[in-house]
Amino acid sequence: MKPAESRALLELAAQQRYALLAVNADSQAAVTDCLEAARACDAPIIIETSLWQLTGHSYGNGDPILGLTRYLADLTALSKSDRYRTVPVLFHTDHIKGPDALRILSAAIRGVPYRASTVSLDSSELSEEENIDLICRLCEIADDAEVPLSLEVEAGIDAGVTELAAADRLLGAVEASHPNRLALWAPGVGTQHGLSMRRDAFSPAAVEQHQRRASEICGRPIGIALHGSSGLSESDLRAGVAAGVVKVNWSSESLLIRSRAAQEYYATHACELEKTHPNWKSAAMDNGVQSFVSTRYVPAVIHRIQTLGGEGQAAEWHDRR
Ligand SMILES: [Zn+2]
Repeated sequence: MKPAESRALLELAAQQRYALLAVNADSQAAVTDCLEAARACDAPIIIETSLWQLTGHSYGNGDPILGLTRYLADLTALSKSDRYRTVPVLFHTDHIKGPDALRILSAAIRGVPYRASTVSLDSSELSEEENIDLICRLCEIADDAEVPLSLEVEAGIDAGVTELAAADRLLGAVEASHPNRLALWAPGVGTQHGLSMRRDAFSPAAVEQHQRRASEICGRPIGIALHGSSGLSESDLRAGVAAGVVKVNWSSESLLIRSRAAQEYYATHACELEKTHPNWKSAAMDNGVQSFVSTRYVPAVIHRIQTLGGEGQAAEWHDRR
């Protein structure tokens, strides 16, 4: 989906008080499963990649630009196919950092050859000034190329609750120099990446305050992007959405579901993988394990989309366009 449409969809989510599931999908099979789940519950979905997926074996095999090209070529073909053409699909760059960050994000913004729907950069190793400076450089890249850009800006995600004054400084600076680029705000709200977080630290009140402040600063609805959702309960997720979360990143738990399903497949199909077994070839093919993983994974994705209130929202989006 294009950057401007993506921002309109995120604003609709803010109005309708639901959140889009944003899955860190690290293989073509995982991407297919996500679109299958979104189709099954008539929901929009965000597919996102971090640097480790772009350089990973399924995509770039060490080359992040090749990874980005392969990832987006596959996602574009899939989302335009007959089976999935009614599913609104956003592609987001998530957790891109390090010396290559600007080069990779520049390619994603300029659309060489495919454009990202929304863009963020990993600010975990940046000072606030460096974060602002890098975000403004992304805006300048879009200005120079005369292309649209929708940004997610983040700050201190794993470091407890971000003070509201940080929203004033960060979002205020970006909005003042490059108005109308901001689409999402990802402050720290007590969550942490990974599976070992303290759930009682999550603060829906902080979500609500940041959502209101970000919307005031920008003069339009700005929803909250929630990182580190894997350890949260369903009631936490619902409380977060009610408070203003519109994008829920999902990685650790998703990886665990897929890897455990693959483990189960190889444990239960060991005898078929003997070369004397008549079925060994179909059991050995990537399709064997990935189809099995799909039966475990797709229902989990559907359940998460439903928890976030996304069911039926694809039709709502199409109706309003
Ligand atoms: Zn994250």
